[in-house]
Amino acid sequence: MHILILGGTTEARALAGLLHGGGVRATSSLAGRVASPRLPEGEVRIGGFGGAQGLAEWIGAHAVDAVIDATHPFAERISFNAAGAAVTAHVPLLALRRPGWVPAAGDRWLSVPSLAAAADALDGLGERVFLTTGRMGLAAFAALPHRFLVRSVDAPEAPMPARAEVLLDRGPFTLDGERELLARHRIDVLVTKDSGAAATAPKLTAAREARIPVVVVRRPPVPDGVPVATTPEEAVAWVRSRLP
Ligand code: NAP
Repeated sequence: MHILILGGTTEARALAGLLHGGGVRATSSLAGRVASPRLPEGEVRIGGFGGAQGLAEWIGAHAVDAVIDATHPFAERISFNAAGAAVTAHVPLLALRRPGWVPAAGDRWLSVPSLAAAADALDGLGERVFLTTGRMGLAAFAALPHRFLVRSVDAPEAPMPARAEVLLDRGPFTLDGERELLARHRIDVLVTKDSGAAATAPKLTAAREARIPVVVVRRPPVPDGVPVATTPEEAVAWVRSRLP
């Protein structure tokens, strides 16, 4: 059996490790966005497929039996392409999505549907913004007068806010580190996508403690009809249920 894992997440790497360790052939696919990615175990390919059609052709050419879309919850286009390609190539598709974050007592969260809505929501929430939505899509904030601390793995893409300090860093982050960062930069408001990742969750606790509001960008939906697993182990069980 040959499984194609659409990756780029901690869960995708864990899944590749589990399948590889269990003797199941799996190829992990990365988009190639990060300069030096943490590579999963097993076979790896890097770069786009050329849309849903290109992905369907790759599936056929490499005798893929099933696809697991373990991409980031906000990687909407590749998930949409995977749904189309799976139909075209007649292979089963599973989405692996870690659960989203849930607010706790004391949290001041504002849930918004997009980065543009997050930018709108900043009006009146303070001057100093900790922006942790990744290096892409910062154009939504470019026209704002606020002071931004932008944290991303690789350098952000222009256009970006005029008053921005960039902090290149990759999780996991610690609670102590996040507390110190919020205090040192006198942050008034945090902006995040609802990635649900444990590695980046300490910023939410630090914001709660400091009574800082958090603008949370909601996830796009998983494409219609695609079953969802929430852990790599569940995804392995799905694969095992398909083994001859
Ligand atoms: P996207 O907008 O959904 O996809 C844009 C294009 O990138 C796709 O059409 C596809 O190109 C290519 N692509 C994306 N993921 C791919 C993969 N795993 N393997 C091969 N090609 C892929 O994706 P994105 O939001 O730019 O994210 C890119 C990658 O970074 C994803 O793998 C995702 O897991 C990871 N990531 C994303 C975020 C985020 O916030 N969006 C955060 C952390 C990690 P073709 O059409 O040419 O096939």
